[in-house]
Amino acid sequence: MAAACGLLDGAGNPKPTIFTEMSALAAQTNSANLGQGFPDEDGPEWIREAAIEAIRAGVNQYAPGRGSLDLRQAIAAHQARHYGLTLDPESEVLVTTGATEAIAAALLALAGPGDEVVTLEPFYDSHAACIAMAGATHVTVPLVPHGGGFRLDADALRQAVGPRTRVILVNTPHNPTGTVLNLAELEAVAAAARAVDAIVVTDEVYEHLVFDGARHVPIASLPGMRERTLTISSSGKTFSLTGWKIGWVAGPAPLIDALLAVKQFLTFTSGAPFQRAIARALGTGKAGGDADINALRDTLSYRRGLLMDGLAAAGFKTVRPDGTYFVCADASPFLSAEVADGAAFARWLPGAIGVACVPLSAFCRAGSPTAHALANWVRFTFVKREDTLRTAIDRLAGLNGA
Ligand code: GLN
Repeated sequence: MAAACGLLDGAGNPKPTIFTEMSALAAQTNSANLGQGFPDEDGPEWIREAAIEAIRAGVNQYAPGRGSLDLRQAIAAHQARHYGLTLDPESEVLVTTGATEAIAAALLALAGPGDEVVTLEPFYDSHAACIAMAGATHVTVPLVPHGGGFRLDADALRQAVGPRTRVILVNTPHNPTGTVLNLAELEAVAAAARAVDAIVVTDEVYEHLVFDGARHVPIASLPGMRERTLTISSSGKTFSLTGWKIGWVAGPAPLIDALLAVKQFLTFTSGAPFQRAIARALGTGKAGGDADINALRDTLSYRRGLLMDGLAAAGFKTVRPDGTYFVCADASPFLSAEVADGAAFARWLPGAIGVACVPLSAFCRAGSPTAHALANWVRFTFVKREDTLRTAIDRLAGLNGA
């Protein structure tokens, strides 16, 4: 099964994800790791203290399967406060072990052999792996470089969606491109889903990390979409606590029940003391950690500018991301017969100058038109301390005459 899903290499060993591979290479070469997207500074101390308090207070046994009620109430309050979405915390919210488990549970619950799941391309690696594990067929719609950004090809979307489409899996703000789908793009997805009665599963883990006044709009808030949308997010990105693995999914009760049926056999329940702390971070009836979220957004916006300037000075063409942790860059000026594409460049760069990145080909289907179009592109993350970014920028400057 794992072999059939492409999860093992030829020798039967687990293929590490591109993030694991690049972080290992970064560690071996003492590189500035701008590959795997995780912060090298922990989230707010008061939230970490809340988890410690919960452990001391004895919140150490299994949480309820749907998640502790205080967290489900806080998630509902968060969706209401930020987006005007009303949810019943008893039946319309499920706490998961990170957004990754929510995506796996959604795909395993909703799609199977004979069903098609449509995603954007490039796509996050776990999306493709979970579609394969569900036995469903993966159909992709390109995000194409357009007017300085990566935009949804609405015609390709209309062609990709058909009677076999069971799920349209979107990710906005989008990893790896940094695209924040605009209203017209979201409406195109919504129309396509309504036309064939498909369910939209939307991975919104970077919901708060948007820049330059870009606005994140949950597709569930569009007319007629609440009843067919599962909205996934997590505390990892919002509060710089990626190791806690507290995520959630919100949507109509029958769909949440279907996910719960799967989730109970994936992880049973998710980390109890962390749930207590994230309930406080999200806040009920008050703003919770909204000030911390705003501070993170501001510092990320600054660091995005720093990295983009550094990449431009080194000779890369970049696309300005509206959201996420990431900026994509075209490495074509640095390619050669020996280092022939973005994948080779990403594997060469740590040993050559001490900087790690991730190739965009890792987010594409092998041999697809999008993989071809983005073959020379790589992704750098700016969710690192300023000194890490400055070290990387200094080293990248050395590429110029290389
Ligand atoms: N989401 C992170 C990224 O895109 C990586 C998480 C992981 O390694 N699975 O870099």
